[in-house]
Amino acid sequence: MKVAIFSTKPYDREFLTQANNALPQAHELIFHETQLNTQSALLAQNCQAVCCFVNDHVDATTLAQLAELGVKLIALRCAGFNQVDLTAAKKLGLLVARVADYSPHAVAEHALGLMLMLNRNLHRAYHRVRENDYSLNGLLGFDMVNKTVAVIGTGKIGAVLATIVRGLGCRVIAYDPEPNSALVAAGVAYLPLDQLWPQADIISLHCPLNTHTHHLITNNSIAQMKNGVMLINTGRGGLIDTKAVIDGLKSKKIGHLGLDVYEEEGDLFFEDNSNQLLQDDVFARLLTFPNVVITGHQAFFTREALTAIARVTLANITHVERGELTQVCLVN
Ligand code: NAD
Repeated sequence: MKVAIFSTKPYDREFLTQANNALPQAHELIFHETQLNTQSALLAQNCQAVCCFVNDHVDATTLAQLAELGVKLIALRCAGFNQVDLTAAKKLGLLVARVADYSPHAVAEHALGLMLMLNRNLHRAYHRVRENDYSLNGLLGFDMVNKTVAVIGTGKIGAVLATIVRGLGCRVIAYDPEPNSALVAAGVAYLPLDQLWPQADIISLHCPLNTHTHHLITNNSIAQMKNGVMLINTGRGGLIDTKAVIDGLKSKKIGHLGLDVYEEEGDLFFEDNSNQLLQDDVFARLLTFPNVVITGHQAFFTREALTAIARVTLANITHVERGELTQVCLVN
């Protein structure tokens, strides 16, 4: 198939090209740096598939343009699919495939990294030592052992995180409309959210972003949390009402915040903006807190994950080309 690949970086080209070259019958890959949106959709002319990423604008208008051009498949090279208007895709007869399971460990380990960075103030310690400052004031941390970690969404990533933190001696509580029986057997207690918020020392978000989970974290849920709670979000930015979290940080209700995703990240992340003025005042305020660590949507970014993403994305395209529809496809 001829595939227009949007939002590509050098690492996307490297991993996709390598995986494509290993196929008995390679696809024709056309790489574009630009995001997919209504302006750039025309670049998919003569292509049967479009490959896109987390911040591409796969809305109804863009999908209609793609269908008009003869595109048959939207192959997402990510797990989340909140950026796609699935109803519009279905109406237009477009297939949508994603990479449901590339490396839950990559994201779960990144969430753990944020926890350990924040609980021992490693981000501040790193800078101090480089300034020849070995003072410890302000770096006091806490042990992870015996702390209660709440995992919201115990699918592939949440389940791995639950297992990891249990290994550190944490008690794990969880919320998921579909509890994971293996975790229940391992002693994880599933609770309704109003019972979970007041018990957790650390809350980590691993549910998909949809109409039910949009702004799951609000002033109301924050008010029910423990004083000094640590909040970690490697899910999607829209799970959190960022202004409510800023209020929570200012009142010290939230003691630590680790983010890999941000509601308005589409205008910021994956680019080097170091020569430009930061225009997003909400994000700028977040950066002023010493107890906030933000990474730019890099939780997925491991060699193993990129290898699997490239392999599965191309396999999805091959399956559709051959008329085989597999379980890994979100097919309309
Ligand atoms: P998954 O589908 O395996 O698991 C999601 C879980 O969330 C499921 O068990 C589901 O039942 C549960 N869920 C659904 N609605 C819920 C609700 N209202 N409250 C609580 N739980 C709910 O997905 P996954 O592979 O574990 O990924 C989870 C999310 O992580 C993805 O949707 C994506 O947005 C995000 N993600 C982020 C990165 C990153 O680089 N930061 C990478 C991959 C995935």
